[in-house]
This record gives sequence, structure tokens and C-alpha cells, in this order.
Amino acid sequence: MGRAFVYVIVGGGVAAGYAALEFTKRGVPPGELCIISEEPVAPYERPALSKGYLLPEAPARLPSFHTCVGANEERLTPKWYNEHGIELVLGTRVKSADVRRKTLVTATGETISYKILIIATGARALKLEEFGLSGSDAENVCYLRDLADANRLVNVMKSCSGGNAVVIGGGYIGMECAASLVINKINVTMVFPEAHCMARLFTPKIASYYEEYYKSKGVKFVKGTVLSSFDVDSNGKVVAVNLRDGNRLPTDMVVVGIGIRPNTSLFEGQLTLEKGGIKVNGRLQSSNSSVYAVGDVATFPLKLLGETRRLEHVDSARKSAKHAVAAIMEPDKTDKFDYLPFFYSRVFTLSWQFYGDNVGEVVHYGNFSGATFGAYWVNKGQLVGSFLEGGTKEEYEAIAKATQLQPVVEDLAELERQGLGFALAVSQKPLPSTPVDGKTVPGLVLGKSLYPLHATAGVILAASIAAFAYWYGRRRRRW
Ligand SMILES: Cc1cc2nc3c(=O)[nH]c(=O)nc-3n(C[C@H](O)[C@H](O)[C@H](O)COP(=O)(O)OP(=O)(O)OC[C@H]3O[C@@H](n4cnc5c(N)ncnc54)[C@H](O)[C@@H]3O)c2cc1C
Repeated sequence: MGRAFVYVIVGGGVAAGYAALEFTKRGVPPGELCIISEEPVAPYERPALSKGYLLPEAPARLPSFHTCVGANEERLTPKWYNEHGIELVLGTRVKSADVRRKTLVTATGETISYKILIIATGARALKLEEFGLSGSDAENVCYLRDLADANRLVNVMKSCSGGNAVVIGGGYIGMECAASLVINKINVTMVFPEAHCMARLFTPKIASYYEEYYKSKGVKFVKGTVLSSFDVDSNGKVVAVNLRDGNRLPTDMVVVGIGIRPNTSLFEGQLTLEKGGIKVNGRLQSSNSSVYAVGDVATFPLKLLGETRRLEHVDSARKSAKHAVAAIMEPDKTDKFDYLPFFYSRVFTLSWQFYGDNVGEVVHYGNFSGATFGAYWVNKGQLVGSFLEGGTKEEYEAIAKATQLQPVVEDLAELERQGLGFALAVSQKPLPSTPVDGKTVPGLVLGKSLYPLHATAGVILAASIAAFAYWYGRRRRRW
């Protein structure tokens, strides 16, 4: 025996929360939508776990960061779901799925059937054991993916105040946890195998800025090596971290941030997978037309880059979820998902944003000894990625829009000279959206003809629109 719903979302994280809000905006009737989540709480803004949640003073606690406050939308408390007739099945793992029969079986033994399923199972933190190491179960070894991990981390931090921590991994989780540990008065050593932090995104120059900043806060970096084992005392606590380079780091606690793996296992052998995620089309629809996938678990076509990607970032979780619901509820009015990748982080008083893709040649700009600097990535002569630290709202919007437009860049030196001004000027142009000859003109093509950056003159010409060229020349003189 079990229950039947029109729409079921499996997974109750960021994407599920944004999907729920979108369902209600589009008039889902009470009783038709169900969310099943392994976590015992209603969907929340996961990024808060490594930021406000870890603060020693006035830390963020639920219900303050339930979705969708991260996008300045309504805060969906359990009461909200109740009032909207949305069934929240919390603290319940889905242990099997049958997409042919359209059923899910939960760990409590209930069978829940659906007409349309949205997979929003996100990802899980990779454990040391998956790399042939051991020690994850030691009481002072922490991960950070969900609320339970965050509570554990808070408790371990409290018991280690004034002590030492080793952070394994130099990515997002490592960097954000290291900053929080410092704020909690814990001495931090970061260990990672790469030559610099945030190796998948940062250039050596950008990384160097953040590493120097962290060093000024007392953080030590041990790079180019990895954990080989822990020394554990008779109480089962890690007391030292042994590294492959032979070094031994005495410690009071360990935080492990070595990557994530998308939660696809329920659907392996039933749906097409690609790049580690569930492959979906521009409507976020999987190889089974009744099943959609969103957020960290989905590999979707990125129109802008002409390839499929699986992203692990909150903005893509929010927007893919909203788009899937639009495609389900109003298929005739919903275009293909056209997403500009956006990542951000906030540590100490620093704050950066990145848009697009970090491939091709890099052009740094701004003042790397000051508070505002950035980088552009130019691939095959077009701007494809933009990074900015310390920007204003308008400046972040400008780099986003410029990246979306993908202007042609022929002179990298000139781009460096113009720096942020380049994005500010380019972003003044409205995004092309009007159909031409019955077809929608993508920004890519218009960008090419509107913004060639000429090597000799160092001038960005709007080659085909004279009025824009005149306006643009006036703008440029102001920089
Ligand atoms: C600490 C932390 C900080 C972050 N900070 C940033 C940031 O600053 N910027 C940024 O862009 N991104 C950040 N991210 C990434 C961002 O939070 C994720 O991209 C986002 O949460 C993905 O949303 P999702 O809904 O796909 O998955 P999730 O939010 O992970 O939700 C998945 C949900 O599915 C549930 N689930 C999984 N399997 C099952 C099952 N079988 N049955 C039932 N339920 C199941 C899980 O328990 C979970 O509740 C951060 C992530 C973490 C962990």
C-alpha cells in the first residue's frame, strides 16, 4: 500500500525548495505535490552551512535560511508547505526507484507513485575511504554537506577553541571551512595536492591573493602532498595527520573537503547518465520523458558553451529547478534552459563572483594589492568567463552580462588595460532576444559583430551599428 501523487520530488535540498515555490506560483493544486527527503528538515539554503552557520557569534539557524531566502524570495517553512498542500516526507530515504512503473520505495517500506518525477538528490561528500584511506569515523574528523555534518562541525570546533585544525582539500569547502575555523579561534593548516587553492577555478595569480590573505589570518598551507594516515589515540580521536611527503601535523581536529559525488545510484541502469550525472535535455527531462533531473545531479546542455555540463553550484540548482517546473507545467510556453554558469564564495570580508567558463587565455585586471580585481577568460577570440573580487552589485551584473554576450576580443593587452571598464561598457547593450527572420538570434552571434576589440586602435567597434559605435566611443572616454 502507498500513496500516489501527480508530482514527486526525490531529494529535499536547494533545488527541491525552489521547485516547490515555482509549482505554487504556477498554481499546483493542493495534494498533488510530494517531496521526499532523507534530511529531517524542510529544504534550506545549503551554502549557509559553511558561512553563517559556523559563526561563533549569532550563528544562522533554521528556520532563518529555509529556501528561498537566498534568492530574496519567500522563506518556505514547514508551515508554508502545509498551507500549500505540499506533502513533505522528511527523514525518509528513497531506497529504490522503478521508472517504468513510476514508483519509489522508501526506507520505511512505503511505495509512492507519481506521474512526473523530479530527481533532486544532489550530491554527497566523498569519504576518505573512497581513496583507500581510513578515519572518517573518528569523532574529531568532520565533513560538511548537510545540517547533521554542520552541527557536528560546530560541536567539534567548540571543543577545540585555541587548538589546531588540519583542513584536507583546497576547494570551496576547504577554503570556506578554513575561514570559519580561524573566526572560531582555531589555528588552521590546509593540505592539498595542487600547486594552489581552488585549482579548478583560480589562476595562480588569483589563488596567490587569497592564500596571502589567509596567511595574514594565520593559516598555513602545505601544498603538493596528500594525507597518508591519521594517528589516533586510545579514545578514537585523531591526534596527528601524517602526510605522504613525510610530514606529521599534530592536530585537535580535521575537516575533510575532497569533493562530492552526485547521488545517481537509484537510477543507474534506468536512465542515461553522462559526465557523472543524469543526462537531461534543455527541458531538464531525462531519457525517460516522465522523469526530470535538476541541481547537482543533472548533466544538462549549456547552450552558451555548446556542450553538456554538470554543475555543483547553488544558482544552477535554483534555476534548473524553476525551469524544470516551468517545462512540466507550461511546456508550450517554455524555451530550452539557457543558463550562464555562476559561482560565488564569501570568506572573511572577501567576496567573489565568477560567470561563464574558465577556458582559454586569461587576462587579469585591477589592483591585486587592493580590494577589487578580476580576470577574464578569452577562448577562440571571445570572452567566455569573468571573475571579480570585491565588486559592487552593478559591477557583478556587468561582468555577468558581458560574459553572456561573449564579445569578440582581439587584443588581450587592451582588454587588460580597460579591465572592469570593458565589462561595464559592453553590458550597457541590451541582451538580444528579438527574433530576426523568424529565428531568435543568440547573443553569441550578435556579440561577435557588435564588439570586436581591435588590436591597432585599441577600440571596441560596433561594426554594424553606427549609433552604438558613437555612443560606445563616448562611454570609453570616461574610463
Ligand atoms: C557547505 C556548502 C557550502 C556551499 N556553498 C556554496 C556557495 O557558496 N556557492 C555556490 O554556488 N554553491 C555552494 N554550495 C553548493 C550548493 O549548495 C549545491 O550546489 C546545491 O545545494 C545543490 O542543490 P541540490 O538540490 O541539487 O542538492 P542538495 O542541496 O544537496 O539536496 C539534495 C537532497 O537530496 C537528499 N537525498 C539524496 N538522496 C536521497 C534519497 N535517496 N532519498 C531521499 N532524499 C535524498 C539529500 O539528503 C538532500 O537533502 C555549497 C555546498 C555546501 C555543502
